[in-house]
Amino acid sequence: MVRRLFLMMTVWCAVITGWAQKPNIHILATGGTIAGTGASSTQTNYTAGQVAIGTLLDAVPEISEIAQVTGEQVVRIGSQDMTDEVWLILAKRIQELAEQDEVDGIVITHGTDTMEETAYFLTLTVKTGKPVVLVGAMRPSTALSADGPLNLYDAVVVASAPESKGKGVVVAMNGLILDAHSVVKMNTTNVQTFQSPNSGALGTVYNGKVHYDQVSLKKHTTFSVFDVTTLDTLPKVGIVYSYSNIEADMVEPMLNNGYRGIVHAGVGNGNIHTHIFPVLEQARAKGIQVVRASRVPTGPVTLDAEVDDDRYGFIASQELNPQKARILLMLALTRTNDYRRIQQYFNEY
Ligand code: GLU
Repeated sequence: MVRRLFLMMTVWCAVITGWAQKPNIHILATGGTIAGTGASSTQTNYTAGQVAIGTLLDAVPEISEIAQVTGEQVVRIGSQDMTDEVWLILAKRIQELAEQDEVDGIVITHGTDTMEETAYFLTLTVKTGKPVVLVGAMRPSTALSADGPLNLYDAVVVASAPESKGKGVVVAMNGLILDAHSVVKMNTTNVQTFQSPNSGALGTVYNGKVHYDQVSLKKHTTFSVFDVTTLDTLPKVGIVYSYSNIEADMVEPMLNNGYRGIVHAGVGNGNIHTHIFPVLEQARAKGIQVVRASRVPTGPVTLDAEVDDDRYGFIASQELNPQKARILLMLALTRTNDYRRIQQYFNEY
């Protein structure tokens, strides 16, 4: 009888302690509009990255009810100024944090302009099943109906949720949870800017709860072969945006300036103008990789369809837009210069 009573009390204590134990979420702040301040509440002219992480958190005291939050400022920039160097710093720091038992999830506050690129870089390079969530805002913290506070709260909810484990790096913005491979900034000013136009959102976050509808079938995080832990730089890869009447002199400088890869943002299904096709062939002859992506916002660029990729040694980007194709090509080039192997990466990641 005494033993049973003792057992019941132990279970009861565990339940209470479980309730009291909030997840430990670490926030890495990088700047952007979520930390922006403007002179007026009705105009969105502002300077990005002004507000420190502590001030951001003070604006959302509700977060302390759901998680134990710690934070650090990594950089304070508008994400239009994002660099490979900052990505490498972020990836290494997230890896360190994710390996600590006491860290349950990581949130990165970030400008929205290049958020999809950072998310994709991190999902390919960070090896963890713990939630890693990027968040930002479209309106500065001083604007009427600033979206940052709720977005930050939601991001902590997503990072705290056991259901978010193993989903890869995600973006949590305006109620949607979007995977790094498919998320795209679709609107220059609207708060509902982030979408996954090819595959749809992974799920939603609403009223402090997450709901997932699907998982990404692409390789990421613990399934990714890419490792940047010992790298200080990444191979140089640039993007050429195509248009009617494009001339060869737009692309020729890329043959002699240290580029190891060119992503061609082509028309339609990645088509290439006859004015620049010979330059891309010259690039291949020099050992520079050429990826055919598209300036069209949705749909894949398919292998050997309108262009005979195998004949020219080109790579088809599949569903990756040009800016994400650049990231996968950079990482692929850290492992191989064989276009067939690189194509395999584009099929899988
Ligand atoms: N251009 C800045 C950035 O991407 C601010 C835009 C934003 O965060 O929405 O950081």
